[in-house]
Amino acid sequence: MSSSDTEEFDVICVGAGYSGLTAAYKLLKARPNLKVCVLEAKDRVGGRTVSQKLKCADAEGNDDEWEWDLGGQWVGSNQQAIWQLLQELDVGTYKQHVNGAKCIRLDSDSKTLTYKSTLPSIGVLSTADLGQMMLRIERLIKTINVTDPWSHPEAEYLDSITVTELLNKYSWTTKVKDMVKAAVRTIFGADMSQINALYFLVYCASAGSLREVLEATPGTAQEYKIKGGAQAVCQKMITDHIGASNVELSTPVTKIEQFDEMVTISTLTKSKVYHAKYVVVATPPHLTSSIEFSPALPYNKQRIHQFMPMGHLIKVIATYRKAYWKIHGYSGEVVTTDPMAAQTGALSIVYDSSSERGHPALVAFIGGDQATMWGDKSVEERRSAVLKSLSEHFQIKELLQPIEYVEKDWAKESYNGGCPVNTVSPGAMKFYSQLQATTYSRVEFAGTESSSSCCGFLSGAVHAGTRAANKILEKLPAEEETS
Ligand SMILES: Cc1cc2nc3c(=O)[nH]c(=O)nc-3n(C[C@H](O)[C@H](O)[C@H](O)COP(=O)(O)OP(=O)(O)OC[C@H]3O[C@@H](n4cnc5c(N)ncnc54)[C@H](O)[C@@H]3O)c2cc1C
Repeated sequence: MSSSDTEEFDVICVGAGYSGLTAAYKLLKARPNLKVCVLEAKDRVGGRTVSQKLKCADAEGNDDEWEWDLGGQWVGSNQQAIWQLLQELDVGTYKQHVNGAKCIRLDSDSKTLTYKSTLPSIGVLSTADLGQMMLRIERLIKTINVTDPWSHPEAEYLDSITVTELLNKYSWTTKVKDMVKAAVRTIFGADMSQINALYFLVYCASAGSLREVLEATPGTAQEYKIKGGAQAVCQKMITDHIGASNVELSTPVTKIEQFDEMVTISTLTKSKVYHAKYVVVATPPHLTSSIEFSPALPYNKQRIHQFMPMGHLIKVIATYRKAYWKIHGYSGEVVTTDPMAAQTGALSIVYDSSSERGHPALVAFIGGDQATMWGDKSVEERRSAVLKSLSEHFQIKELLQPIEYVEKDWAKESYNGGCPVNTVSPGAMKFYSQLQATTYSRVEFAGTESSSSCCGFLSGAVHAGTRAANKILEKLPAEEETS
């Protein structure tokens, strides 16, 4: 401490989501004597992960309470960074329940259809279209260099079109387009017409493939859930390694000033100025642009931040006395554009969300244009539309009466402004290399959107946080630690 108005650190991490906390954890794991601090704008840690205790029934049907994830929840065994972190922290996982019949209802369907095969029951022509579309898009994804997408021979063209136009080129049936529409709404919280096609391909390539993004089968993104909830991993990094006193909540960073020997940080709520040798900025791009940098960030880096809007996703959990869908032979999975609800339907994707102890629950998503429409309605209206849809898809009247219904509209939380990920607007991928240029003198940028491995996922956040920590460890000689 140099004076009452300043405090000195080796490293300050901005943002206590998975990425900022991983950076702090990895730094301290490698060098326990480093003085590391995490500054977080919200009054809680976890960023885009948060858990909430809900009333529910145990596997025998008795009253109970359990925690559910209202933000990020799924991890895949193919997602190396998060998988390794969970192992290091000794945090367990459990399988997403997928056994049983699945449901699909798209705009052109007069009723919900069920199927048990891998491919949905959308008719012979549409099934053939789905197969060829997946094959050709996967081939295209394989040609994308995630760390240099602009080197692709068709980069300029792909940058100029949206996912809608990409799909129009690769698919000819309405049903396949509707299926992708439902999936994209949940994955990005945006509609296909709002997402840059080249960015969509980079996102899939960084996850491995389109299949790995979409499915809940072994080796894909929805394969497992985290025991104890996703937010608990952040808390464990703090209690076991970082130390609660080194995480300052309700401290939004407003200014980052770089000098030859150090960086200074000013915040909205604290009068003191923080000094650090290095800083990790682990905030989503649209929020990074509200921090003042001196000297200013390169203009094209500012531009890519401004061209990356956050999606809009509302996540719903409904707990039930019994897993009625399983009793009726369903897995709990629904893919829908939900034409039965008024105007734009409420739901896009539904999954079984039963806890690791078997407390029955469903998780449902309202995303993109659906969230735009339903986000402005009252909770009662949304609740009624969601439960009606669930009950009609599965033809189970008990689904109208959950033990507890909870929803989280991420657009309404400060220092979030939507969810689950930032996308890139059409025409802006030409600035993307600036998002991937993560070192700016003494500042390292992290956050899932900056990752070349599973960008947009929890794993991408961990990957980016680890990358930032490793770069700082290379630059910070051991003898320079602040005592
Ligand atoms: C509903 C939902 C479902 C999702 N489902 C999945 C899933 O199943 N699997 C998966 O892998 N991913 C999922 N995701 C995405 C996943 O949650 C994110 O990729 C991940 O949490 C991002 O971590 P991050 O640390 O990069 O960013 P964040 O979690 O956004 O953390 C950034 C932190 O920075 C803070 N901050 C912002 N500005 C400032 C400032 N000026 N000063 C200080 N602090 C600031 C924020 O408050 C926040 O805490 C989902 C997300 C949502 C919302």
